[in-house]
Amino acid sequence: MISPEDLAFDAAHIWHPYTSLTHPLPVYAVESAEGCLLKLSDGRVLIDGMASWWACIHGYNHPRMNAAIAEQLSKMSHVMFGGITHQSAIDLSKQLVEMTPDVLETVFLSDSGSIAIEVALKMALQYWVGLEQPDRTQFVTVRGGYHGDTYHAMSVCDPVGGMHSLFASSLPKYLFADRPQIKFDQPWDESDFESLRSLVMQQEETVAAIVMEPIVQGAGGMHFYHPTYLKRVRELCDDVGCLLILDEIATGFGRSGKLFAMDHAGIVPDILCLGKALTGGYVTLGATMTTRSVAHGISACGVLMHGPTFMANPLACRVALESVRLVREMDWALQVGRIEAGLRRGLEAAKGLANVADVRVLGAIGVVEMVKPVDVAAMQREFVARGVWVRPFGKLVYVMPPFCISDEQIEGLTAAIVAVCASAS
Ligand SMILES: *Cc1c(COP(=O)(O)O)cnc(C)c1O
Repeated sequence: MISPEDLAFDAAHIWHPYTSLTHPLPVYAVESAEGCLLKLSDGRVLIDGMASWWACIHGYNHPRMNAAIAEQLSKMSHVMFGGITHQSAIDLSKQLVEMTPDVLETVFLSDSGSIAIEVALKMALQYWVGLEQPDRTQFVTVRGGYHGDTYHAMSVCDPVGGMHSLFASSLPKYLFADRPQIKFDQPWDESDFESLRSLVMQQEETVAAIVMEPIVQGAGGMHFYHPTYLKRVRELCDDVGCLLILDEIATGFGRSGKLFAMDHAGIVPDILCLGKALTGGYVTLGATMTTRSVAHGISACGVLMHGPTFMANPLACRVALESVRLVREMDWALQVGRIEAGLRRGLEAAKGLANVADVRVLGAIGVVEMVKPVDVAAMQREFVARGVWVRPFGKLVYVMPPFCISDEQIEGLTAAIVAVCASAS
């Protein structure tokens, strides 16, 4: 059990995501985790609704993932990737090339999701230099997006709600179209695409790439937009000859009900970013994939100027390989479909609550949008008291549990959400 002194040390000395050291929020000490359960150091057990921010799709302490990382550990935990290669990087990259659309043939393995985005943006810029069109330096995206917290990634996040407005004056200025309005299952309306189309048409000659989260806008508001929107984005990129960068860091590996969210629209990007569930949540790893033609364009002006110290870390690659193998062996579509049905059933009751603005479910993602921003610490306490781990932000109470969550656990999770939302002031 973590001592009160250690918790006090934590509060006084350790930063947590999006926190202040003068007004620290309570943290819960987790001792261990197993399957879909988090075990707190005081002995309480919580059903995990978050999969540790989309990542732990196979659950915690998975025997095969544990064995895979242990096997790699006994050989080498790390070796530099400059001038050296290793089997785990090769095997993982083979799997990624195989399971993504045929044209995505090259793999850059980096440290995290944000870095996968940084690499994608650099690739796009270098590609246009390679093609002797160096004026193509603009990125275009939509409002409501989230692509990470590093510097250039921040510049394509939602400029208002994207948690980075503090840095706005020193960030590069890119172009933002309106957020897609037509929801995933509403009838499509072409007018929804007008904002992005006209923005790009005005800047046709300077656009390097359009950057999007396919179908699911995650941390920027948990919106599910219409697949036709994404089809139109691909057509527009082809029309004006710019690149399409898709950020599947949150959605990749089955989460939205398709293996990749872009599959809802049947389109393929020029550059694809992966992260989060890539390692089944074991350690951090990002991947940026491109077509052969993008790779050739980049190489036309020399080497790609990126090479992190821990590039293609063997432990990360080996455990990612195992995670990807598990995804390919399991009937993930069946599991995600089962979770989707369970979330729909369980969250239905939240629709009638006066303080709830919207309830939406897509794949293994369930969202209750409240009318007003919630008191995160107070709500968190209520959730823990009811034996579930849900971490709201803003107006959003949302879950994306590990795929191994049982039907009973889904019921427990959704019942807690309905009860806690009902009693939220
Ligand atoms: C989480 C996330 C990122 C950033 O990944 P990190 O590993 O946190 O750097 C980027 N894009 C999307 C869509 C994400 O959900």
